[in-house]
Amino acid sequence: MLSERSRSPEGALFGAVDWGGTWVRVALVAGDQIIHRERLPRPESLPEQYATIALLVRRCEAAVGRRPTSVGIAVAGVVQQQAVMTAINLGISERTEVATALAAELDCPVFVANDTQSAAVWLTDRWRQDTTAVLSMGTGIGGAVIDRGRLVSGRGAAGDFGHMVLDVDGPRCPCGGVGCFEMLVSGKVLSAAAEELAATGQSAYLLERFRAAGSLHAGDLQDASDAGDTASQVTLAHAASVFAVGIRNIVATVDPARVALAGRLLSGDVTFGVMVRQSWDRLRPSWCSTPLVHVPDDGDATLLGAARLAAREFFG
Ligand SMILES: [Zn+2]
Repeated sequence: MLSERSRSPEGALFGAVDWGGTWVRVALVAGDQIIHRERLPRPESLPEQYATIALLVRRCEAAVGRRPTSVGIAVAGVVQQQAVMTAINLGISERTEVATALAAELDCPVFVANDTQSAAVWLTDRWRQDTTAVLSMGTGIGGAVIDRGRLVSGRGAAGDFGHMVLDVDGPRCPCGGVGCFEMLVSGKVLSAAAEELAATGQSAYLLERFRAAGSLHAGDLQDASDAGDTASQVTLAHAASVFAVGIRNIVATVDPARVALAGRLLSGDVTFGVMVRQSWDRLRPSWCSTPLVHVPDDGDATLLGAARLAAREFFG
């Protein structure tokens, strides 16, 4: 069934693993196309997770009839020197030699990167001539720096903007720091802020929605703001200002040609995204015209980026 591994990127097949807290997704990628994909829920123990990744890769190989040249592993955690240092949602709390373990399990070269970094490689593919800083907001804040199509990762974790400290008196972060970016503004923080406004009676709109739904999300805070709820507007505007301070620090460090924003709430078409752009215009230095550009993700950027990283590491 298995053909000889390709020796050039043209026609070569690469594997991609999106190793997340809920799902383990695996794809085989040729060129820019996913040609087969498989997924399974993430099991609990680390050995079971390795076995699940290997099983999914084998299923993909069986479906396609070929083996990948190398496999890119995108991990929801902090990666340094091909080891996972911490990945709370995967149950990894200490340095774990993931690349070594999975290369043996898959009998194939592997390259390990953070999942936001992997997605960033794909989402910035159109800007290969200069530098892009990527800033994403989902549950937390992720980031990456891409220079001329290449991930700038330092020892692996460069661009982890969610853990830039924006308030030295801020809340303690699971990373061990205080006042980290993602402790001040993130999907999780905005959800909690919405529930706080409902629980304290500051927002009748959110209280009503909470009673109907049983929980609140960042989008509810935005809906309340759009409906004219003053407390929600103030909370969201403050969060947008903090977000713009984060952008300012990234620009001061990286001086990118653009900051690419990933995540639904950062689109220029929604209230929070608009507030972030307004705050950025207010906070940026007069000489600094760095544009904010939204990069939509159809859900496959992590897999396609992981495959791209695997190809580059193998072929240089
Ligand atoms: Zn932190």
